[in-house]
Amino acid sequence: MAEPTRFGIGEPPASGTPPEPVDVPWIDVHQHTQSLSWNDRERFDLAGCRAAVMIAAGYYWAPYRPVRAADVRFLWDDALRRGAAFDHRHFYEQYVAVGVHTWAGVTDVEELLAVLPEYCAHDRVVAVGETGIESTHHTTAFPLEEQRDVVREQFAIAREAGLPVLVHTPGSSKGDVDPRHARRYEEGNRNFTAPLLPTEGTKREAVEMDVELAEEAGLADEQVVIDHADDTVREFVMENTGCHLAYSVSAPWLRGVDARDVAAAIEAHGSDRILVDTDLIGAMEHDPFVMKRTILDLLALGVPREAVRAVVYENPRRVLGLE
Ligand SMILES: [Zn+2]
Repeated sequence: MAEPTRFGIGEPPASGTPPEPVDVPWIDVHQHTQSLSWNDRERFDLAGCRAAVMIAAGYYWAPYRPVRAADVRFLWDDALRRGAAFDHRHFYEQYVAVGVHTWAGVTDVEELLAVLPEYCAHDRVVAVGETGIESTHHTTAFPLEEQRDVVREQFAIAREAGLPVLVHTPGSSKGDVDPRHARRYEEGNRNFTAPLLPTEGTKREAVEMDVELAEEAGLADEQVVIDHADDTVREFVMENTGCHLAYSVSAPWLRGVDARDVAAAIEAHGSDRILVDTDLIGAMEHDPFVMKRTILDLLALGVPREAVRAVVYENPRRVLGLE
């Protein structure tokens, strides 16, 4: 993949023709909107946002004691209430994803699973999640067997509701955050439980488990979005499953993923099942223009305009059922 073209100051573009206007709309399937500010949401309006999905059980919300079902239920209700406040004051549609995040062990989780179908029927709820097998947790560990049951059950609920699932996959965001970056991430502390999966190949192992659980629940691959993608899971997902693969492009300094990874994935596998999302969150240094910048970078890298439009707009729209 070629490096982005850089023009010298005052020099015309190499082709001699001015670039086409960048009017590519976008939909963000994964962001923690409630942790952002009005200014950030206005920037979504300015940058061509058509819709955004707020993850109701905010992972930035680091519990200081074991999490109870009522705590999570509060976050779900809060997200739904805020969603209405957001899109009535901005120019994009604010949707919500509801689910039991595996960020921390949750007591009485059955209470949540019992009411989740009711939440899925809400007009504003367009996805289940984020959820998925996680290796390390805040405050209280979530044993793997319990996680399996909770994730599988949410896949089954999504199947019944006809909703996609945003599958969180373990990343580099926990425990030993690079000391150079630690101050840019407020939750990047050492308040985490010991990993339940081997520290090498964690993401790949978790993704294989998630795919297996989706199969057990009878959830169609097209309804599964494997999120926070990187090179360690790309080939497995694209060649062995029919799932979607989403790249979370905020905080490249933490995740090590940017437009070049998305371009490489499109080049290798086509644009049909690739998505770009932001995972924007107020607890770390963030760029509310990251989606627009990624669109510009993809175009500069030579990715065809239709493919760019597919990964930031058409695919998210189809997966969320917003067509
Ligand atoms: Zn996540």
